[in-house]
Amino acid sequence: MKTLLIGEYREGKLLDSTYELLGFAGQLGAETAMLLVGSDSQLPACGGTLYLADASQCGEYNPDLHKQLILDAVQKENPDYVVFLHSSYGWDLAPRVAAKLRVAQVSEVIGLAEGGFEVGCCNAKMRRTVKPATPKAVITIQAGAFAPQQPGGNPSVQKVTASVMSNVTFTGYEPAEAKDVDLTRAEVIVTAGRGVGKKENVPVIAALAKALGGELGASRPVVDAGWVEHSHQVGTTGQTVSPKLYIACGVSGAIQHLAGMKKSDFIVAINKDKDAPIGEVADVLVVADVLQFVPALTAKL
Ligand SMILES: Cc1cc2nc3c(=O)[nH]c(=O)nc-3n(C[C@H](O)[C@H](O)[C@H](O)COP(=O)(O)OP(=O)(O)OC[C@H]3O[C@@H](n4cnc5c(N)ncnc54)[C@H](O)[C@@H]3O)c2cc1C
Repeated sequence: MKTLLIGEYREGKLLDSTYELLGFAGQLGAETAMLLVGSDSQLPACGGTLYLADASQCGEYNPDLHKQLILDAVQKENPDYVVFLHSSYGWDLAPRVAAKLRVAQVSEVIGLAEGGFEVGCCNAKMRRTVKPATPKAVITIQAGAFAPQQPGGNPSVQKVTASVMSNVTFTGYEPAEAKDVDLTRAEVIVTAGRGVGKKENVPVIAALAKALGGELGASRPVVDAGWVEHSHQVGTTGQTVSPKLYIACGVSGAIQHLAGMKKSDFIVAINKDKDAPIGEVADVLVVADVLQFVPALTAKL
């Protein structure tokens, strides 16, 4: 089995998440080749063949040119799977490539399953197995679902260029407007999950954050319900954080949340369910009611 992995490069840097693609291929036991629109000053230690296009010529992002580069590499490699990260780059390019190749696409893969791929459904509360409807397929993998792997060894680099014209000009990235809080710089984050019950209970969590000199974080349902501003959301559709201390209060530990915080140095989870999945990444799991435990802890501090 063979995979063509599509690496990611942003603002002059190879993204670490590129190594998650190698983790996926490793679990699959597949041979790999990679395509990267980047620079030869930062090559992934991916072994195998690396098709390298120059981002300064093709733009760090240009759907026309990048699609063509991927299709050219597919022609050379004839892979079973073309694999993207489920990022904004992958969301945009994967369907273009799948449509052109006339193969199925399986999106947001979180695991391998007998005869197919595991994907989330019902807002990621459940998992189902999807078998691609065609023998070859395009896959996007969920960030954080596959442990990064660095098989090591310098790749054998083949420099490539796009041979098509494009009306798109890449002009650069615009940083999101600075909001009231920058969680990426916080050393301590105390996050309110749906387990806090209602908006009126959020100050209990915010008080612990304040006592620790940290910031308030929130899971997505808490933000969707309007209890906390989106600028505090942690996860794939919020911020990716790695504080020294992360305290998750009433957070179940869905993969989209974990992807945003599991690199924190020390993780404490407070949950009344001793089997909550957050326990798998927590250094300490306190099995308790947040509304009893958190005020008691804040008072001690
Ligand atoms: C495309 C997509 C993107 C997403 N992006 C994000 C994202 O960026 N960030 C994010 O967080 N989610 C995201 N989600 C949603 C994610 O799948 C989960 O639904 C969400 O993380 C669950 O939030 P939660 O843990 O707060 O709530 P729940 O899953 O409802 O968990 C609540 C937890 O609180 C515990 N609990 C309940 N009452 C108490 C109590 N009194 N004391 C202690 N514990 C209690 C329960 O045991 C449970 O474990 C996304 C989903 C999709 C499909």
